[in-house]
Amino acid sequence: MHLTEFWNETLSLIKSSTDASEFQLYFSELTVDYGTENNLTVYVPSTFFRDRLKVKFEAQIKSTLKELTGHDIDINFKVRPKETRTETKKENEPLTEKEVQKPAQNSSDIKATPKKNHVLLNPDYTFSNFIVGGNNEFAYNCALAISKDPGLNYNPLMLYGGVGLGKTHLMQAIGNAIYVNNPKANIIYIPSESFMMEFFASIQNKTQSQFKNKYRNVDALLLDDIHDLENKKETQEELFNTFNALYQARKQLVFTCDRPPQELKDFAGRLLSRLTLGVNADLQIPSWETRFVILKKKAEQKNIKIPDDVLEIIARKITTNVRDLQAAMNQVTAYAEIINSEVTLEIAQNLLKNIFAGPVQQSIPIDLVQKVVAEFYKLSVQDLKGKKRTQAITLPRQVAMYIIREMTEFSTTEVGTEFGGRDHTTVMHAVQKIADKLKTEPSFDAVIQNLQRIVRERASNS
Ligand code: ADP
Ligand code: MG
Repeated sequence: MHLTEFWNETLSLIKSSTDASEFQLYFSELTVDYGTENNLTVYVPSTFFRDRLKVKFEAQIKSTLKELTGHDIDINFKVRPKETRTETKKENEPLTEKEVQKPAQNSSDIKATPKKNHVLLNPDYTFSNFIVGGNNEFAYNCALAISKDPGLNYNPLMLYGGVGLGKTHLMQAIGNAIYVNNPKANIIYIPSESFMMEFFASIQNKTQSQFKNKYRNVDALLLDDIHDLENKKETQEELFNTFNALYQARKQLVFTCDRPPQELKDFAGRLLSRLTLGVNADLQIPSWETRFVILKKKAEQKNIKIPDDVLEIIARKITTNVRDLQAAMNQVTAYAEIINSEVTLEIAQNLLKNIFAGPVQQSIPIDLVQKVVAEFYKLSVQDLKGKKRTQAITLPRQVAMYIIREMTEFSTTEVGTEFGGRDHTTVMHAVQKIADKLKTEPSFDAVIQNLQRIVRERASNS
């Protein structure tokens, strides 16, 4: 095998474990020179880009290559000299100013040519492809209202919530809808990280005024994943100025964030207060019914046959987010295609065994759950573990016990001990209580899901 093939294989392995937009961001811009069989040179667009790429991916690239080839490969990351830069436009590459203006052709042109998709937007991310449930209804309605009257009502819109819950989808749905209504509208969708890179590139190339022009002349700015700007002081400053210019001109601004914006760290207060000045709408994990509807719709769209009982079990078991839900369904679908028939419940269970076994959860300590639940209900951990039996404390206590039993391997006796030496039957009773409540109150499901998500995140961050 030639090094080219190893390199390509390495990229496809990294791609499979990396968020699509992140992969696009870092890898679509690379060109490679193959040296001898033990070394290669990777060309990147700028020093800033090179540094970020190295921090994020160098180790992974090297170890993957080593695994594939069986020996160490020397990799040289170099900034590409200007003239050899690839001229072909990549899908996600920020547009030059000229191109951004492009949709503003005269109206006869527009009629003559069939409507094209907006270059920066995924055409699948539309309102009609978005399943609405109690978990996202408010966000959906705000987004829809904005798409009808951009800049008028809800401005800015801040969409927040965990990964894979549809923030990017809704944000781009706004863009797609504005674009359909008005193909002349100047819409920019950009992940915050790309915004930052473009900003630094403009400093390096002394094209700051073009950068400012570009971002201060849009009708709708859709800036995704602003949490990536934590402790990025200069970029925050630039965004602050961009925000003010656009806001004053009554242009629509939409942001997304993977947590409640108030929880951002190292984020300039005055910027934060501007970003959250309009409507803040969160996206929660869908209830299992909504998850089921999502699966059903996706299966229909792809025209594949999966029996309802199979969809139901996927919907019930995959409780993390919509992205995981789709991944599970894709596995089942791929298999159905191979065997060219419907998938049975048994086959699905077998296929998804690893997923159903759940992530290894050895590392969730009881006190972490106690802390998260106490914070959520604004109690102290002491109260949670203590003797008081008022309703305001009993429910949170039961919730904490329930979550611990769901997410860890601790026995009811061990759990009881950690709650002020309670008996194991008390723990069992608490778990039953919550299970009953979940059956009768669908909205309570969202609360539990949300708490589990926070626990999971905190556990993996510690
Ligand atoms: P986020 O930006 O919050 O991480 P995405 O918008 O990328 O999440 O969503 C992940 C995937 O799940 C996308 O393919 C998206 O289309 C899909 N998705 C999320 N929520 C919904 C929903 N309510 N209805 C249909 N598809 C959804
Ligand atoms: Mg996203």
